[in-house]
Amino acid sequence: MTIQSADPAQLNAEQPPEPVGRLTPMMEQYLEIKAAHPGLLLFYRMGDFYELFFDDAEIASQSLGIMLTKRGKHLGQDIPMCGVPVERSDDYLHRLIEKGHRVAVCEQMEDPAAARKRGNKSVVRRDVVRLVTPGTLTEDNLLDARANNYLLAIARARSSAPGGDRIGLSWIDISTAEFIVTECSLAELSATLARINPNEVIVTDALYSDAELGPLLRALPAVTPLTRDVFDSATAERRLCDYFAVATMDGFGAMSRLEATAAAATLTYIDRTQVGKRPPLSPPSREAAGTTLAIDSATRANLELTRTLAGERRGSLLDAIDATVTAAGSRLLAQRLAAPLTDVVAITRRLDAVSAFVADGAARDDIRTTLKAAPDMSRGLARLSVGRGGPRDLAGLRDGISAADQALAIFSRLSNPPPEIASAIEALQRPSRDLAQELANALDEQLPLMKRDGGFVRPGYDTALDETRALRDESRQVVATMQARYAEETGVKALKIRHNNVLGYFVEVTAQHGDRLMAPPLNARFIHRQTLAGQVRFTTTELGEVEAKIANAGERALGLELEIFDRLSAQVIAAGDDLRAAAHAFALLDVATALAKLAIDQDYARPEVDTSLAFAIEGGRHPVVEQALKRDGQPFIANASNLSPTPGQATGQIWLITGPNMAGKSTFLRQNALIALLAQIGSFVPAKRARIGVVDRLFSRVGAADDLARGRSTFMVEMVETAAILNQAGERALVILDEIGRGTATFDGLSIAWATIEHLHETNRCRALFATHYHELTALSARLPRLFNATVRVKEWQGDVVFLHEVLPGAADRSYGIQVAKLAGLPPPVIARAKTVLAKLEAQDRTSTTRALADDLPLFATPSRAAAEPAPKGPGDLLIEAVNALHPDEMSPRDALDALYALKKQAEAK
Ligand code: ATP
Repeated sequence: MTIQSADPAQLNAEQPPEPVGRLTPMMEQYLEIKAAHPGLLLFYRMGDFYELFFDDAEIASQSLGIMLTKRGKHLGQDIPMCGVPVERSDDYLHRLIEKGHRVAVCEQMEDPAAARKRGNKSVVRRDVVRLVTPGTLTEDNLLDARANNYLLAIARARSSAPGGDRIGLSWIDISTAEFIVTECSLAELSATLARINPNEVIVTDALYSDAELGPLLRALPAVTPLTRDVFDSATAERRLCDYFAVATMDGFGAMSRLEATAAAATLTYIDRTQVGKRPPLSPPSREAAGTTLAIDSATRANLELTRTLAGERRGSLLDAIDATVTAAGSRLLAQRLAAPLTDVVAITRRLDAVSAFVADGAARDDIRTTLKAAPDMSRGLARLSVGRGGPRDLAGLRDGISAADQALAIFSRLSNPPPEIASAIEALQRPSRDLAQELANALDEQLPLMKRDGGFVRPGYDTALDETRALRDESRQVVATMQARYAEETGVKALKIRHNNVLGYFVEVTAQHGDRLMAPPLNARFIHRQTLAGQVRFTTTELGEVEAKIANAGERALGLELEIFDRLSAQVIAAGDDLRAAAHAFALLDVATALAKLAIDQDYARPEVDTSLAFAIEGGRHPVVEQALKRDGQPFIANASNLSPTPGQATGQIWLITGPNMAGKSTFLRQNALIALLAQIGSFVPAKRARIGVVDRLFSRVGAADDLARGRSTFMVEMVETAAILNQAGERALVILDEIGRGTATFDGLSIAWATIEHLHETNRCRALFATHYHELTALSARLPRLFNATVRVKEWQGDVVFLHEVLPGAADRSYGIQVAKLAGLPPPVIARAKTVLAKLEAQDRTSTTRALADDLPLFATPSRAAAEPAPKGPGDLLIEAVNALHPDEMSPRDALDALYALKKQAEAK
């Protein structure tokens, strides 16, 4: 794409850099501003463009695909330059931020004419008005409407106490004014970061290069290291009080010193990036430890909560359950899904609200219709607060308040609403109706995006404005009359009075009439300005005067409108707390009604959530797979599970699920985790009945993926994740383990899986679901009283396998891997040969060998016959080995095809 750069006339007016070795005043100014903002691209305003120079120009031209030009010289070298038009700069900013850049926006702080008055060589005064960084955005088109945009600060306090160092966290979304602080241990940091999912993280330089924390921090998408003073705990309290203009922090509730340090760091960074403009924030709310279900980042990714493993929202749990109708509702639902609760009272409160809307379909539908018309008030309010709002943001608040009135009318039909809805009703009553009326009176029907475009104040609202507008419009009428008069007086019927940005108003006649106006007597009045190919242009003193009048009236009208805008903005900002409360109430109602709709549409049931260790699900389904199958017209087979403690036992059960490939083991495992999670966000669940004793940590180890960027192979990742589970899961945890030990040699893997189950049973004593193809493990249930064997049923029919997806008590004796391989299209000779080899192996009866071992711990004290005496290898064995060495789950389609060709070649060679 080619973009024209700034008007050359403007550049010349400011004398671009030229002489070798000596700086022009403009370049001097540029370099000074640039030096004050290291690490940021400098958008340097020149007229209608933001220009970038030197390395910045090269980076921007590459990232944005815009043309790189050069202008002048610096130290004997050409200065690379590129520019983006101010009008479309948001687009370009968005793309630069997405690519990980940060931008300092430098504006002209005076009219170039004012600068010229100071002398020919003077430069227009410029200043950086804002730093654009990923965590401090407010513009609609820079933000994802359905996601929060958090800036997060991490502060560390060294400690030799048990549990080690403490971490203070503070996170702020300036586009919605949310401000939260908490403290956690070093071990909990990774899971906490995964939950908050910040868009930008700030830390001290020291922490960024710390041996222990540095690698974790550097793996985050956007980290900004800052000097120590930003994290100075001695001044933290003062900075907090200063931001909120209060004398003491007492009103904020108890906050630890570490939390206050992190909180002050976020505020200082906001001050720096907004260059003095302080977006209003809610007072910091403190999140007490242990109030949310801890889910580490691997589990979040594995369970595809907000994104699939491929990074898509489509196909994730959030996508499947998100029936909200507003962006703010969608954000709140995503927040809730990221942080399910552990407090039964709070969960019940949310469930009560959903139940109320399940029961009252009419109220649900009416509220949803009303919400659809309610704009994103909190983001509009934030934009107005930092001076980046427009007339449409004001209108949004007007419409929001009127939507609140409609919602209240609907609620007046409800008798005895549950507490969550009652608090929403209260919040909707808060915003001033007078303000809404004032906005309705002031704002016109059609509104421009930018306030500087004017024309947004309704006629009749302000007398002075109406008068000035009349004058402006009258003057236009005067021009029309003047044109008719000039045509008459000159005898040139086609004479026109036109306007352009260069000449302003001018008289235009065709070339053939030009001479007449340039000759006496007309030349005394018509002053020649320009001759073009077909036209000649003139001005007159009279026209100049009218032009000045029009310009003045237009400018004055705009000035008055801007004054009105500022006044209304100030009123709206002053009412910010009430408007934000109403906006939050809308989001809350959106989530409650959306979850109710989901429950009705998808036939979900209200879960029973309590403080027991129960986990009993009847007719459970996987929320995402079920919807996908439904789209294809296929039924989902519901399954029960029960991990509740058996009578007389304090702790719950471990289910060991064996069954054929493709039978539905992974689906079953995940659906149980997702049902618990949905219950704890306060949603109905895809089941006939569910009783969940609150889960405090959810772990899952499913699928296989490597993390080559961090130097970890597939097996290493699997073991790191397993280690995390075995080290951290307590009695209240829910653990999902799928195919532990598959990434290594059979006996290594079996041994690890075996020891893992024992550890879960004896030490962690948590509720767990464990799927495996090592059928040998089912023998463990004879020795471990809380281990329960379950299997997924299949039917064999004419040598093929039919999947019934039914989970039943019992153990599978085989995996039907060969039948599944046949279904997948492995060549018939390979399938035939695999069957022969399997028969041979089965004759060796490995199962009985290991079953004997189950009674003979320590594990594998005597080496098994299969391990000690491998069968002599024939050509077919080599082929089987080759097939066994394949890991279909880890192969790309291309690898799979190559492997098939290789196998075929090998088979043909025999
Ligand atoms: P493998 O051992 O090969 O990993 P698996 O036993 O874990 O297989 P899943 O991946 O859970 O099998 O399920 C395979 C497919 O079967 C799913 O993609 C889904 O389409 C279907 N399926 C699973 N469970 C059910 C169910 N309860 N009802 C209907 N279809 C199901």
